[in-house]
Amino acid sequence: MTIDVLTLFPDMIEPVFKHSIIGRAQEKGSVTINVHDFREFSVDKHKSVDDTPYGGGAGMVLRVEPVVRALRALEGHEQALKILMTPQGIPYTQSRAQTLSKNDHLIILCGHYEGYDERIRDYFDVEISIGDYVLTGGEIAAMAVIDSLVRLIPGVLSNAQSHEDDSFSMSLLEYPQYTKPRIFEGKSVPEVLLSGHHENINIWRKEEALKRTQKRRPDLYEKYLKKSEN
Ligand code: SAM
Repeated sequence: MTIDVLTLFPDMIEPVFKHSIIGRAQEKGSVTINVHDFREFSVDKHKSVDDTPYGGGAGMVLRVEPVVRALRALEGHEQALKILMTPQGIPYTQSRAQTLSKNDHLIILCGHYEGYDERIRDYFDVEISIGDYVLTGGEIAAMAVIDSLVRLIPGVLSNAQSHEDDSFSMSLLEYPQYTKPRIFEGKSVPEVLLSGHHENINIWRKEEALKRTQKRRPDLYEKYLKKSEN
């Protein structure tokens, strides 16, 4: 998979993806993440990319020309799925991460300032929000999207790091996990996990996942029950 990110702050993104699982995924060739500064595509000598809004009002608006010029300079941009990061987009979920992880080429635009010239939207296929809150820019949002979808590309996680039990993958939150020591300040690891009885361990984990989801996320729990009925 290739991911091209259009941003005004490449330094915010590049160092983050040099590390850990996403860094190794790039070394292995499972994904190539290219970060582009779309200020390079400004149409004036001051390299500006924003301007005041028509009709007045607070803040600056991202201009359409630098974004479209940057987009068109990317190889394969016609076929790529083009994503615009915005709090006005569809809410991002694990199931959307799964769908996006199956694409060959993504282009992601990180906004800044007060917002986009509305005409920018015509050049993108999907608008994504990572939650009902407003960030100063799209970089952190784009990084969350990239991180969550790259780990789902086959071969990126080893079997030992499998994502199949992750929270949300079955509409349930993940069961509680423990590691050494067996007892810490009087708090013991549940006996069943020390039993070596895999069937009982699986039953316990499923029950705990159900209990936890029902308590913390009744909305997800209802969804799970509906899915199980069908
Ligand atoms: N005034 C805009 C509005 O109300 O929709 C918000 C602009 S925000 C300050 C600047 C940029 O940050 C956005 O264009 C978007 O790229 C990014 N951003 C902020 N919150 C986001 C969120 N929840 N999800 C995705 N991107 C977000």
